[in-house]
Amino acid sequence: MANSKKILELGPSQRRWAMPRHLQRFWGQYALNNESGLYFARGSSAARVQIVVETFKKLPPQFAALCHEWKLTVSFAEGWTATGNASTFYADFSQSSPADISPHVEISEQSFKPGVIIGHLAHEVAHLFWRTRTFEQKQAYRIFLANSCSADTVEVTAYVQDFLKEYLGTLKDFARGKVHPNLHEGNFNRWTEESFCDTVATVLARKHPDRSPACTISVKQRRKAMAEFLQLFI
Ligand SMILES: [Zn+2]
Repeated sequence: MANSKKILELGPSQRRWAMPRHLQRFWGQYALNNESGLYFARGSSAARVQIVVETFKKLPPQFAALCHEWKLTVSFAEGWTATGNASTFYADFSQSSPADISPHVEISEQSFKPGVIIGHLAHEVAHLFWRTRTFEQKQAYRIFLANSCSADTVEVTAYVQDFLKEYLGTLKDFARGKVHPNLHEGNFNRWTEESFCDTVATVLARKHPDRSPACTISVKQRRKAMAEFLQLFI
């Protein structure tokens, strides 16, 4: 990281996805934290930065390398994130240059409750990993997921269960020609991405508080598929 800039200045021309008023809080200065290689919003609480830095060390080396490559920025929120979640990943992958894609993770105070931070940080960084895979890699993993889940499946967390339910709902209607292919594909892509992220989170956070007690997923099988199709080794 010898050549990394110490301060990133991200305004409307670098981070266009933050144009909507409620996202403009993500413009501003981010300072490099030497210990982690992450960029934190100027003025962040030192105590929270330290918690994230320590937690970041527990993520797979592949994730850390990716965060450094993409100059991931991090900020904190009281209450909930700008999109109303405990933590949120933002980026614009419709842009072609990495600087314009400008990935960011926002972590609210909800994620600092005991035992929560590792799962939430892993989930958000997993989004960056997923989005930077090739279409073929993602498609191979999506097909694996679709083939290994049915209406009786209980996903790793209740959060992902909702996405699976939505997908299965449109799958039925799609088969009857009642649903537009874009909606069907959108629900399929959302479920598979969130499922990937929360499976990673539950693997890395052994005591993940949101884990479904009735989960029917073989995490071992998913880890094997992640290694085979996505070259992710966790
Ligand atoms: Zn997510």
